[in-house]
Amino acid sequence: MNRKMMIAGNWKMNGLSAEGIGLAKEIAAKVKQKKRTCEFVVCPPFTLLNLVKKALRGSKIALGAQDCHFAEKGAHTGDISPVMLRDLGCEYVILGHSERRADHKESSALVAKKVEAAHNCWLKTIVCVGETLEQRESGKTIEVCSRQVRESLPEGSRAANVVVAYEPVWAIGTGKTPTPQEVEDVHAAIRQVLAKKIGKSEAAKMRILYGGSVKPANAKEMLTLEDVDGALIGGASLKADDFIAISDNAGC
Ligand code: PEP
Repeated sequence: MNRKMMIAGNWKMNGLSAEGIGLAKEIAAKVKQKKRTCEFVVCPPFTLLNLVKKALRGSKIALGAQDCHFAEKGAHTGDISPVMLRDLGCEYVILGHSERRADHKESSALVAKKVEAAHNCWLKTIVCVGETLEQRESGKTIEVCSRQVRESLPEGSRAANVVVAYEPVWAIGTGKTPTPQEVEDVHAAIRQVLAKKIGKSEAAKMRILYGGSVKPANAKEMLTLEDVDGALIGGASLKADDFIAISDNAGC
């Protein structure tokens, strides 16, 4: 199956105006020199979305946000709606990241509501799943990830509007990674769950990214696996050279 590789940067809660604009422009200039065989996405914090959108003008890099509410508008102090993200020019939104599941007690049921709301306003979603170290050590990795995929994807999820990101919680920002074989096993299991949920042909088309301490040095072994369709990159996406080097090593 010919799935287009995706290289997505999750900037998390990092960057003030000048830095964000600078980083976006640097990435855009470097991506421009590429053959464009991959899809690039950058997901800055809400505060930088507008500025980064302008900095990316004329590039093929898509803009993404890191979360949204499930309501279109209303009394939700401090929240941002999917319609607002669309209005700002976002094409993607990351939902269900483990930091939100942990810091904001987001359940898969809530994630599914957000994913549905995002799809309803034509946003595409990057839906994150992944096991904690404790779950991994008790042999529950596949069970946990499978359940999260089943429960976090609403009706109407398709390869055209969803990208799944497998991010082991213990690998995020730690420099630790699963072995390539372990990643391949989890991705294959996720694809099986998807096949049951959305049908075999949609599942075969849906991209599954790996995320968790992806660096230029490990990108080749992690991102050239059969069932790995790109990367969701945290720390290393804050340096244009590293972000691009990862994409180079992934064959983009
Ligand atoms: C992430 O949080 O999505 C992530 C993958 O982080 P890092 O690359 O820093 O491990």
